[in-house]
Amino acid sequence: MEYRERTDEGKAPMPMPMLASACPGWVCYAEKAQADMLPLLSAARSSQGIMGALVKTWWGGRVGLKPDEIYHVTAMPCYDKKLEASRSDFYSAIYSTREVDCVLTTGELDLLLSDLGFDPLSPVAGEDIPADTDVDAVFGSPWPELLTHQGSSSGSYLGTLLRQLADSHPNPTRIITREIRGSTDNVEYLLEDALTGEVIFKGAKCYGFRNLQNLVRKVGKETGTSRKSGNKLSLAIAARRRKARTGAGEVNTPTTDGSDAETTGRDEKKLDFVEVMACPGGCVNGGGQMKPVTKVQREELEVDEEGFERPMADEGVDEGMRWSTKEWVAKVEVIYWGGLPTPPPSPTLPAQHLHKEETIDSRRYEEADRLAEEVVRDACGDNEGKRWEFLRTRFRKIEGDVLQGGVTHDAVKW
Ligand code: SF4
Repeated sequence: MEYRERTDEGKAPMPMPMLASACPGWVCYAEKAQADMLPLLSAARSSQGIMGALVKTWWGGRVGLKPDEIYHVTAMPCYDKKLEASRSDFYSAIYSTREVDCVLTTGELDLLLSDLGFDPLSPVAGEDIPADTDVDAVFGSPWPELLTHQGSSSGSYLGTLLRQLADSHPNPTRIITREIRGSTDNVEYLLEDALTGEVIFKGAKCYGFRNLQNLVRKVGKETGTSRKSGNKLSLAIAARRRKARTGAGEVNTPTTDGSDAETTGRDEKKLDFVEVMACPGGCVNGGGQMKPVTKVQREELEVDEEGFERPMADEGVDEGMRWSTKEWVAKVEVIYWGGLPTPPPSPTLPAQHLHKEETIDSRRYEEADRLAEEVVRDACGDNEGKRWEFLRTRFRKIEGDVLQGGVTHDAVKW
């Protein structure tokens, strides 16, 4: 919806490309070092921000609890989500409470469960039901325990936008992906009209700080927001490096309809949207995620593309270890996409919402959209101001290493 607002020709032009803002690592960097980029950041709340509004405002209202009578804990992939939860937009001065009271990383949750005597690896009844089972037949419900989706395991903002743009385009479409310098963390996605070849949309996935810094240079060049002379120099250097790499780095992958990917006009198209994530590999590789326990000799350590040593040294988690190995991240991705449903089963859908001629996936998407709208209407009615506060947030330039109230990042203890 926000993308539609930005590209609506009937309205005053808004800055583009739109940049995803669900990653607090990226937001923190932009607010402190790239203030020119802030108007490009999507105002949509992150998933944690949305849950904060849902739990304390919507659900609390339904069960007769005030926001300060609920203690809301989230399990997140990184420590930066704690910083996000402490932002002023997510604090209610009326009730003196935060929308998210406590953020635990998955690694902390694992430690907590172990400390309390739980075995996180012990089996749960029904967990061996295959993920592709017809859940209608098993549970009498078209809902999986977790709603599956297309796109990435880091919020799938780009995937959702591509799906919606393709669905609303009058002609058939195809998607062309292009890895920049052979990196799966830096990929362009072009949505083309399959009949005319017109590029309807150009998006990108940009994960990891190195790619992110290149993105800032590229977007600064496209939008003319790189005002400092130092940036001009960086741009010139980046351009020379790009030229030197020409022909050796960009890899076109097959189109989604199997047609020839070689047409003109793709390079000229400016970016419309970028899914920006600070961690290489995205949230499955977040700094707070559970880490593999391996025995590795010091001499076997490599320096990854972010300049960190990996894999871990010795037994357990190495304090200096920030990212997991690519192999471990690939395993986590497999579990993310093919994970088993988690009992207890979801409630059965009301019969009037079942349309047997549709596929189970399309019903899930439709039903999810319908329920989401119902919840927002329930919480905000038709009040546009309330809807904005419920679903969106603001970003501000931060001077120096100072958080609100004069607290520095270094002084923050979790
Ligand atoms: S990409 Fe990393 S820093 Fe950003 S939200 Fe995901 S885990 Fe956190």
